Amino acid sequence: MASPQLTTISPSMNPSKPVNHYKAYKPRPFKKEERDKVTILYGGLTWKHERLIQGALHNLNYKAEPLPNITREDLDAGKELIDVGACCPTIFTTGSLVNLLKKKVAAQGKDEVNDKFVYLTAGACGPCRFGQYHESYSMALDGLGLRDFRMFLLAQDELDQGAADGGGLEINMPLSLGMIWGILCADLLMDLEYMTRPYEVNPGQTDRVLKESIEYLYDKFRNRPSRGKKLGPLAWHLMTNYFTRALRVVRKKWEAIEVDHLRVKAKVKVTGEFWLQTHEGEGNYNIKRWLEQEDSEVVPPPVAVWLHYLLHPSIRKLEHRHSTSKHPRLQQLALKALERVYRGTYNRFRKALGNLPYELPDQEELRRLAEPFYHFELRGGEGHMLIGKALHTYHHKKAHMTCELSPYSCMPNTMSVGSMANVLGKYPDLLYAPIEVKGDSEVHALSRCQMILTEAKKRAKAEFESVLSKTGLTVDAIRKYEARHPELRSATYRIPHRDCAGVAANYVLHLAHDRGLARA
Ligand code: SF4
Repeated sequence: MASPQLTTISPSMNPSKPVNHYKAYKPRPFKKEERDKVTILYGGLTWKHERLIQGALHNLNYKAEPLPNITREDLDAGKELIDVGACCPTIFTTGSLVNLLKKKVAAQGKDEVNDKFVYLTAGACGPCRFGQYHESYSMALDGLGLRDFRMFLLAQDELDQGAADGGGLEINMPLSLGMIWGILCADLLMDLEYMTRPYEVNPGQTDRVLKESIEYLYDKFRNRPSRGKKLGPLAWHLMTNYFTRALRVVRKKWEAIEVDHLRVKAKVKVTGEFWLQTHEGEGNYNIKRWLEQEDSEVVPPPVAVWLHYLLHPSIRKLEHRHSTSKHPRLQQLALKALERVYRGTYNRFRKALGNLPYELPDQEELRRLAEPFYHFELRGGEGHMLIGKALHTYHHKKAHMTCELSPYSCMPNTMSVGSMANVLGKYPDLLYAPIEVKGDSEVHALSRCQMILTEAKKRAKAEFESVLSKTGLTVDAIRKYEARHPELRSATYRIPHRDCAGVAANYVLHLAHDRGLARA
């Protein structure tokens, strides 16, 4: 029998059919002289973060516009244009860009959209799809016939990446620091928002003050003084009291909100995949608002924890001598100093807000807690942090339960949800609700969350009754005391965290032990 022949198809055999080789997407140059005509589109965070980032971009004379908040239609648009195995955040974010561009094309035409808009998005490498988001975007642009549309990547680990091709966009110190400082301020206000709204006496007041505060800070970011392009802006951002002064003004605005801390609420720590946990809207079934409607208080996930986490792989590499650096010890010291400065800045901002927002968790502790269940060098998604955060919440009584938002088709999250089975075997009373988010199975996801939430509410109630009985205080006695001390009903009154997860229980303990309110 004759051996099979391999047939090689070469373009030379059919010269009339040229081979279309794959070409990676490369944006056309964005020229400096175009800067005042081109709008930078960006998104992926909450409206608060995006508004402050807009302030930082306007400050540098960029035109900038955040993408509209995600809707269910974005899921459908994303599914049509990218590969079927994509994870749900990729589908949502691609769909959101697609739908916006479609509208702009309909209103202004393709050429105008190609010339007048660019998209700036975070880029990364690593084992999960986050490293390939831009590939999905470029696939979608192809599908829309917008190959000429320009998209630029913002690396997460370099503050100064220089100018993009053409010099129209410079990812330099003033831009990166403005964005990071904006993210930190938005995180802190987000903490204030979620710890106030469930207790507000006048419905809607928190949202109004929040909006006013974000607009006030937007102006501050927009009018940031210029200090050059290299070390000047770094030194200024680290030393200035420009932002702390602004945050003190914000605190004054929050002082006027009247709250009732005796409302017994289940406290729910939200964790999960970065985009899903940060998002506020239809992309995660609006789960944070839903939890509030279900009589609970949400502990939101700050973006600052993710930025802090990004520093640690490099520190670990140096500790384990996996680095080719010539001066590993020196580099290790520099990174640790950078970490101290980062946490110090966050704490300075917290202090300006009366230390009301939560502290950043210690990354070393998260790693230590997660270590028996999930190795810290398994990168991708939130890595070991999801295990670490659930255990941190449990051991420090930061909340009654953890709700982990896991995207459909996300490998890193599937691994952490799997590892949590082992955690729950060791800590059976840890309340944990892993919610798979596909974008189109809301009832299923929320009812699953509700099952655990019911138990969390029972615990919050039992905890409150137990402290009342231990301290001998009654709700009536506390109400009378509040009438004589109205400052207790202000949103900026800080209730120290004592031995309970719930606010109402900690409040009673505080009144009894710190303010000497005695039993009748
Ligand atoms: S962590 Fe999961 S959901 Fe997020 S980008 Fe990576 S694969 Fe997708």
